[in-house]
Amino acid sequence: NRLMDGGADSEERAAEMALRPKSLGDFVGQHKVRQQLELVLHGAKGRGSTPDHILLAGPPGLGKTTLSMIIANELGVPIRITSGPAIQHAGDLAAILSSLTEGEVLFLDEIHRMSRPAEEMLYMAMEDFRVDVIVGKGPGATAIPLELPPFTLVGATTRSGLLPAPLRDRFGFTAHMEFYEPGDLEQVVHRSAKLLEIDIDGEAAAEIASRSRGTPRIANRLLRRVRDFAQVKGDGRGTVEAARNALAVYEVDERGLDRLDRAVLGALLNLFQGGPVGLSTLAVAIGEETDTVEEVAEPFLVRQGLLARTPRGRIATAAAWRHLGVPMPRSAPG
Ligand code: ADP
Repeated sequence: NRLMDGGADSEERAAEMALRPKSLGDFVGQHKVRQQLELVLHGAKGRGSTPDHILLAGPPGLGKTTLSMIIANELGVPIRITSGPAIQHAGDLAAILSSLTEGEVLFLDEIHRMSRPAEEMLYMAMEDFRVDVIVGKGPGATAIPLELPPFTLVGATTRSGLLPAPLRDRFGFTAHMEFYEPGDLEQVVHRSAKLLEIDIDGEAAAEIASRSRGTPRIANRLLRRVRDFAQVKGDGRGTVEAARNALAVYEVDERGLDRLDRAVLGALLNLFQGGPVGLSTLAVAIGEETDTVEEVAEPFLVRQGLLARTPRGRIATAAAWRHLGVPMPRSAPG
C-alpha cells in the first residue's frame, strides 16, 4: 500500500532532496504556518538571538522535514538531522548536543519516539542549554554539568497528543500542519514537474492533485508514476489522459482511494449492507489484518466522510454508496 501512504523510507527521502523548497517563499500552501514562522524567525533574527524551540505537528508527507531545513536556511545556520528512534540512550543525545555549534538547528524527527532518559535530558537542554552527563555507575556516579551553546530545537511529530506535557511546554511555538487544498497540490505538482523536467499540462496536474490525499509527498509520487506511463505508453507528454490511464493502472481512483480502501468499503456495502460491523469481522472478510484496516485504510476513509466509527461498529455513509455506485438499500445506516 506504499503508493498512497504519506510516509517514506530513506531511499525515497534521498530522492526527494531535489524537490524540497529552500525558502519560506518557495514553500507552497500552509499560509497560516508560514505567516507564523516568518514572524518567529524574523523576530529572532532582528534581535540577533536564537528563536524559541519549534514543534511541527502533522501527518507524514506534509513538509515537516522540508520546513526544518527552511528554518535553518532562513536563519543562516547549519542544521543537524536526527530522529527519536535513533536516540536510544541519553548518552547518544548528549553526544549530539555537545557537538552543536552556536545557533545551530537540531531537527528531531518523530520526537514522540525518543527514550525516556533521553527525553528528560532534553528538557534541561531546551530550557537551560545545559545537560548533566552522568559518569560512573551506582552510588559512585556523579553528574558533570556541561554547558551547551544556544541552539534551536525543531521537533516533528505525527502524534502531538502523545508528547508528554513537560516536553510540549518547552516549545515556544507549535506549527499545526494541515492537509493541503487541491489548488496548493496543483502548484506542488507544477513546481516538481519543472524541477524534474516533466512535461505536464494544467488538467493533468489538477487530476494528480485531486487524487493525492492532501499530501505533497503522494502528489510527487503520482507525478513520477504518470511520467513513467507517458514515456512508456504514450509520447512522453503528461496529458490528462496519460494521468488518468496511469492512475488506473495503479488502482488509484478519482478521490485518491486505492485498492485496499475500496475493498474495505466494498465489503462494508456488499457483505454487511453498510454496517454496523465490527472491525475484526470487516478485516477477516477482506483477508487483511485488523491493524492494516484500522491504521492504513480507515483514517483516510473517515476523513473523506465515507466511513464512520460508531460504538456499534463501522458504518458506511451515504457518500460511500454513491462513490462505489451501489444503490443504497432503505435499511442502510448513514
Ligand atoms: P514530512 O517530513 O512531513 O514527512 P517532507 O518535508 O519530507 O514531509 O516532504 C515530503 C515531500 O513533499 C518532499 O519531497 C517535499 O519536497 C514535498 N513537499 C512537502 N511540502 C511541500 C510544500 N509546501 N511545497 C512543495 N513541496 C513540498
